Amino acid sequence: MDCLFCKIVAGEIPARKLYEDDQVFAFHDIGPQAPVHFLVIPKKHIPTLNDLAEEDNALTGHMLFTAQRLANELGCEAGFRVVMNCNDQGGQTVHHIHMHVLGQRQMTWPPG
Ligand code: 5GP
Ligand code: ZN
Repeated sequence: MDCLFCKIVAGEIPARKLYEDDQVFAFHDIGPQAPVHFLVIPKKHIPTLNDLAEEDNALTGHMLFTAQRLANELGCEAGFRVVMNCNDQGGQTVHHIHMHVLGQRQMTWPPG
């Protein structure tokens, strides 16, 4: 599988891991856009949000729960942002779905 994030899950490409269980993997983003910026990904290869199936509902819920738990462990009690980009116009560059979790700075709206 020629997928960067599948290779990170497999340990073939190093990453600063925060958490792992049988369903999800979380690691610091290599190009942080905030003092806290990590990614939560499913171990299952799902290219984009458009590829989600109803059977993935529990998995995506677990990703979100993992995001909030880790955000709070990393000191984001004052707030944080969760972002998922879908396809080119959505700003997606890695085609394995991921939640960005950003915190420890003031966010603005709308995002660019
Ligand atoms: P996207 O633009 O697809 O929503 O986000 C992809 C994210 O993956 C970017 O924030 C980028 O910095 C991050 N990223 C790309 N390659 C690597 C890598 O090899 N390691 C890590 N930790 N993050 C990466
Ligand atoms: Zn993948």
